[in-house]
Amino acid sequence: MTIANLEKIKCPNGHIFEAQLISAISVSDNFELKEALIAGELNLVTCPECGQMFYAECFILYHDSQNELISFVYPLIFQEQAIQCMAKMQKEFKLALKNFSDKDKITYEPILLFGIENLVLLLREEQDIEDEEAILKHLANDLNLTVVKIVPSIARKLAIPKFMPFDKKNKDFSEKSLFLGLDNFVKHNSNLEHYADFFKRISKNKSMFTEISKALK
Ligand SMILES: [Zn+2]
Repeated sequence: MTIANLEKIKCPNGHIFEAQLISAISVSDNFELKEALIAGELNLVTCPECGQMFYAECFILYHDSQNELISFVYPLIFQEQAIQCMAKMQKEFKLALKNFSDKDKITYEPILLFGIENLVLLLREEQDIEDEEAILKHLANDLNLTVVKIVPSIARKLAIPKFMPFDKKNKDFSEKSLFLGLDNFVKHNSNLEHYADFFKRISKNKSMFTEISKALK
């Protein structure tokens, strides 16, 4: 559910006016809103008096069920009260969970952010990863790769893509077949910044594979 309210806003020069501000976003029923958010257009207001353009700060609840992302976004000025905000978020999240049926139960933790700009940054970063994932899906057949998805919230926690390229010659989803798949994929295209970084990190930290194998869908 997406919610917008008419709010009183004060511009940096002290002028007061009213504007519609988004306070809850559910991406699953409104993808255009996600695009507007990524473009930095959401809750961006212009003061009718002095013409100044700025982000109007208000609390935003962001939910993308497909990507397992739920974020409580507090205004930037609340950053100094991060501990209180964290406690408030956990309490409200627990209450909200009661409204979900078992089928739609949220099994991932909410993310605490301050300022809409930081939500925009997070979504842009994930968009960049999704662009690389699209290249992987496109090239998988030609490169003899089997693409397997892992749980999105775990991929986010590990800061890695959620689609894994496994080498097709190896029938099982082993560490070796992932290494061969990653090596093949990043060698093929030099613009895969996130996959190249992931390959570098997992080569140094083998325990990462244990977490990935537990998160295979
Ligand atoms: Zn103004």
